[in-house]
Amino acid sequence: MKKQVLIAGGGIGGLAAALGAARAGCDVRLYERADIFSEVGAGVQLSPNVVRCLQAWGLQKPLQAVAAFPERLQVRCATSGQVLATLPLGTDMVQRYGAVYACVHRADLHTLLLAAVLQEDGVQLNRGQTISGYTEAADAVLVHTGQGKEVEGDALIGADGLRSYTRAQLLGDGPPRTSGHLAYRALVPQGALPAGLRTTQVTAWLGSHLHAVQYPVRGGEMQNLVVIIEGPPPDDLDNWDHAANAADLERALAGACSRLQDIVRSVPTSGSGWRLWPLSDRPPVSSAAQMARGLVALLGDAAHPMRPYLAQGAGMAIEDAAQLQRALSMHDLDVALRLRRYALNRWERNARVQARSQRNGRIFHATGPLRWGRDASLRLLGARVLDIPWLYQGDGSV
Ligand SMILES: Cc1cc2nc3c(=O)[nH]c(=O)nc-3n(C[C@H](O)[C@H](O)[C@H](O)COP(=O)(O)OP(=O)(O)OC[C@H]3O[C@@H](n4cnc5c(N)ncnc54)[C@H](O)[C@@H]3O)c2cc1C
Repeated sequence: MKKQVLIAGGGIGGLAAALGAARAGCDVRLYERADIFSEVGAGVQLSPNVVRCLQAWGLQKPLQAVAAFPERLQVRCATSGQVLATLPLGTDMVQRYGAVYACVHRADLHTLLLAAVLQEDGVQLNRGQTISGYTEAADAVLVHTGQGKEVEGDALIGADGLRSYTRAQLLGDGPPRTSGHLAYRALVPQGALPAGLRTTQVTAWLGSHLHAVQYPVRGGEMQNLVVIIEGPPPDDLDNWDHAANAADLERALAGACSRLQDIVRSVPTSGSGWRLWPLSDRPPVSSAAQMARGLVALLGDAAHPMRPYLAQGAGMAIEDAAQLQRALSMHDLDVALRLRRYALNRWERNARVQARSQRNGRIFHATGPLRWGRDASLRLLGARVLDIPWLYQGDGSV
């Protein structure tokens, strides 16, 4: 008989998990607390290890239609504007890792995953339903929603993000930690920018206590900008004054080169302007038992929230889902063993990516001798420092 997999959360991780579980021959019931399935306006970089997972699901064409495929990654000094190192992307990545390096609008990635999930038989998507807890028995898990529903399944996958309810019950390890870093994000139509500020590549600008990243999305039509600075989060994010805080951001970049300042000033304060994310994470996963116990498993940010300095949070959620598919396909094992197999295959890689993301933050924002050493090695070793074979080769699932 088909197993029934319950999924908490309909973000990128939850939808990828739904697709993986359905492709493994399971019935899927997904519960998303928001009334509509949607993603905020911001970009996501997808390295070849992640694009390969999407290709394995047959999503190459829809990705091709919405993504931008930058030619190179360039690292520059935020103060002088000097180029420190370049990594060719494009066909170089295809030759080395079997897939392109893509940049997408989050909403486009979400939409293409949702369309793929909707084509699967046996998938039911429920909106406006908040998972508020679960009860586990020997061979079933009963999920409770805040709206008074009770649903029984063979497994529960908690893909309910950074402040996961499922994780709170499964691990009880308290809230995530604040990083002291703030991400300002904006999306700008490239056509509205002066020609000199448009881009077809990924550029990372490294400064003291800050860095910025810009890249094209939506076939190059839009430019995604992220600036990360250090500081306390605002007390009331809901009533955050975007226009005033764009001025704060400009002040934080006072020592930056004129090109970076021009890019930041190019974001109109009208419309969605700059949006602010205080960044939080957790220490790296330390065992398989932190990702799955019994009939409950965690996936994506619920399992391994990370700082965005390796651009892999959504990528690891998608890799998790590909491994979940493999594990759920082991029909001769009971469900708890399949989830254990999933966790065993994923936890060390997720931990490594979390640790590397955290380390990158320290290196990107370095001052003094560390900064000098970083710049010298970038100049000397170039692409060899920027290429990350263990990451881009993937986890062996596809
Ligand atoms: C500045 C920044 C830049 C980034 N850049 C990149 C990048 O370039 N590449 C990359 O791969 N990653 C990037 N990331 C990380 C990436 O955005 C996240 O890792 C990814 O979105 C996590 O997806 P998720 O589905 O696990 O969680 P989420 O996106 O948080 O989704 C969780 C979903 O669960 C729902 N939910 C929550 N609680 C409940 C509940 N109790 N019941 C039901 N539903 C619930 C929420 O409404 C939400 O829809 C970046 C992050 C930041 C902050």
